[in-house]
Amino acid sequence: MSAQTVDLLSFEETLEKYDPALGLEVHVELSTLTKMFCGCPTEFGAEPNTQVCPTCLGLPGAMPVVNRKAVEGAIRIGLALNCQIADWCRFARKNYFYPDMPKNFQTSQYDEPIAFEGWMDVALEGEDGEPETFRVVIERAHMEEDTGKTLHVGGATGRIHGADYSLVDYNRAGIPLIEIVTKPIRGAGERAPEVAKAYVAQLRELIVALGVSDARMDQGSIRADVNLSLAPRGSNVLGTRTETKNVNSLRSVERAVRYEMRRHAAVLSSGGSILQETRHWHEDTGITTSGREKSDAEDYRYFPEPDLVPVAPSREWVEELRGTLPENPTQKRARLQAEWGFSDLEMRDTVGAGALLLIERTVAAGTAPQAARKWWLGEMARRANETGTEIDALGVTPEQVAAVQALVDAGTLNDKLARQVFDGLLAGEGTPDEIVAARGLAIVSDEGALSAAVDHAIAANPDVADKIRDGKVAAAGALIGAVMKEMRGQADAARVRELILEKLA
Ligand code: ZN
Ligand code: MN
Repeated sequence: MSAQTVDLLSFEETLEKYDPALGLEVHVELSTLTKMFCGCPTEFGAEPNTQVCPTCLGLPGAMPVVNRKAVEGAIRIGLALNCQIADWCRFARKNYFYPDMPKNFQTSQYDEPIAFEGWMDVALEGEDGEPETFRVVIERAHMEEDTGKTLHVGGATGRIHGADYSLVDYNRAGIPLIEIVTKPIRGAGERAPEVAKAYVAQLRELIVALGVSDARMDQGSIRADVNLSLAPRGSNVLGTRTETKNVNSLRSVERAVRYEMRRHAAVLSSGGSILQETRHWHEDTGITTSGREKSDAEDYRYFPEPDLVPVAPSREWVEELRGTLPENPTQKRARLQAEWGFSDLEMRDTVGAGALLLIERTVAAGTAPQAARKWWLGEMARRANETGTEIDALGVTPEQVAAVQALVDAGTLNDKLARQVFDGLLAGEGTPDEIVAARGLAIVSDEGALSAAVDHAIAANPDVADKIRDGKVAAAGALIGAVMKEMRGQADAARVRELILEKLA
């Protein structure tokens, strides 16, 4: 806990002296209806300890049974990551004590994962703007169960230190997880933070496309742990690694890698040594602090789970599941770019903002691609940035964006009024139509009202009116502004301009 005032090396100096090696472990919570080894429901947000049974509470004599849907999800994820699928594999007990794990072991997989030896080509932005890919090699994707959740009450941080007492909710205990582990990622150099973020973003996109999880980082249904170590430049000998746990946004993945690189470099270059430990990421301060000393695999005393039969998926089933895979993300991007008519730059910004699926759904709901892009990369990205969230966690759905744009297309709203509808949507004021009605936002197209407002503006600005009469049409902007002000932005600006020019012709 002494890490509050660590001096960091600059990122530039870090790279002059060291090469980073990354390792990413991503846990994906599957959205099966029932748990991994029992029939308990998995719905998020239920009353604590209402979705439990003897099996997921680890009571004596309870016998687990494997959830076929979870195995199916694991195989589909494995195939989508270009992995081999085991003919035969087993579960193993990973033994350790933690209060939110009632059995005192986690049922996981050890040396016999269901999927192994895969890869994913991660799309990056090239130096010259050309798309570039970086291959991340996948070591394994294995099945396991989630733990319960501990809530530390009292104390300022919500962490165990300083808490008065702790509560445990076992609803999450036994929910199926797939853990996806990369091989050490070398050679990314200064792009290591970017590669880490892009990998998690693309993996998340893939998981969503597979339909196996809602993959919400903010709700913990996809969680990334970031392993990092440094090797002296030009050396192959990796230093001690640290594992930064549960980094819960894409932006944080990038920041956490960058921070740990600079921290390791500072410690190593001053002659210190890195402790093998887990680290906690602090979103607010942008630093990591010491967690617990990390065990090596042998400390867990893994052994094959005696209460479960091995999993031996038939080759026919695996091939059948291969047939259900979604379109390859790289091909899909190329197809959408052609369909939407986006430039390379527009497409790159779209992917970079994590807006591809959002725009796809908005277009599917009837919006023109450029209009969909404008809302998500402009207005929504700005709002997400201001509140420190991802655009898909803002609370505005693609269908709502499409409904707002339909009102713009129909001439009911202009862009400025549409922004107020988004304010209303985020404040939970109902559907776009309801918000337009309740807030009185529709554009005034009543000619009488427009004409009267134009007359007021002319009367109040005689000098400007004279200029227009003398042929200085550019001066009309000032009168349009005055009319818009009187009509609280709710006038059709093009029609106002026409009226001004007619009246002063
Ligand atoms: Zn249960
Ligand atoms: Mn795990």
